[in-house]
Amino acid sequence: MPDGLGAPLPAPLFERLTLIGLGLIGSSIAHVARRKGLAGKIIAADSLPEVRERVAALGLADEVAGTAEAAVRGADLVVLCVPVGAMGEVAQAIGPHLRQGAIVSDVGSVKSAVIAAVVPHLPPGVHFVPAHPVAGTEYSGPDAGFATLFLNRWNILTPPEGTDPDAVARLAAFWTAAGANVEFMSAAHHDLVLAITSHVPHLVAYNIVGTAAHLEQVTQSEVIKFSAGGFRDFTRIAASDPTMWRDVFLNNKEAVLEMLGRFNEDLIALQRMIRYGDGQGLFDLFTRTRTIRRTIIEQGQETAAADFGRRTAEEKE
Ligand code: NAP
Repeated sequence: MPDGLGAPLPAPLFERLTLIGLGLIGSSIAHVARRKGLAGKIIAADSLPEVRERVAALGLADEVAGTAEAAVRGADLVVLCVPVGAMGEVAQAIGPHLRQGAIVSDVGSVKSAVIAAVVPHLPPGVHFVPAHPVAGTEYSGPDAGFATLFLNRWNILTPPEGTDPDAVARLAAFWTAAGANVEFMSAAHHDLVLAITSHVPHLVAYNIVGTAAHLEQVTQSEVIKFSAGGFRDFTRIAASDPTMWRDVFLNNKEAVLEMLGRFNEDLIALQRMIRYGDGQGLFDLFTRTRTIRRTIIEQGQETAAADFGRRTAEEKE
């Protein structure tokens, strides 16, 4: 069955693509770059020997380096696929080894903090085009990646003012060829939008699963046994990588705290509706939220299947 990615490109968009960090996102970029012929050569860097072995065994790269410095030499596109808190140290390590005219990008879930951490380490003549593919799963590591992860998902580019337009256009073309829809935003606006659409929902999920784990009146085995009542949907989100999410909250502090403040106010309002028996208030809110879900399905960001898209297309047939 066709995977929806279309035919490989007639010629690669970049001669040497270097991926630093071969977790879920880095390995997915490797898969789609291979599948679509986006790069002449793929070079991967990971500091752990066991990860390098997996990368080689999975055929994710043409060369696998033990250091980021070695991997970036001669690269015309370098994508940093490491946790947000590690972007600065990686940029510092690769800075002196980057080729003039190279494009450096990243996939971090936070943009303002990454720009502040990376830019000071890049030499003049190297173009930094920050990006955030809004696509993921709760799995991590080199085995987690797949070529269609970015298909029909948004990728938000947040080039700072004055970024070379040709570099921006080349990176946008790369992501479009990988199946993504490209959108542009300022880094600050990105961080606010993602705080409410991704970061706070993850925090709520981590919190509710944590609360259930601490309960004394309800046993853990009951929580697990009756999880289909809603809880299990939170556990999927709360299973996301702890390092990645620790870094997201520490590096998008202001936007997350702003959205959490609003969330808390709305939660108190709901608490009052329940306490004072305001059924109409509850009904009206739940009606509005249902409309948002329908719109998400209509715009292709979720399936309408009653299993929340858990089964594969093949299983549904
Ligand atoms: P992941 O599967 O956990 O992979 C993280 C990678 O970063 C691993 O290869 C790891 O290397 C490497 N790494 C960790 N700390 C490092 C350090 N200090 N220096 C150098 N390399 C380091 O994570 P991921 O989900 O791919 O996330 C990578 C980036 O994508 C993050 O910035 C995240 O915010 C962003 N992102 C994630 C998602 C998502 O849903 N997962 C979606 C969009 C964007 P080792 O294997 O050697 O530990």
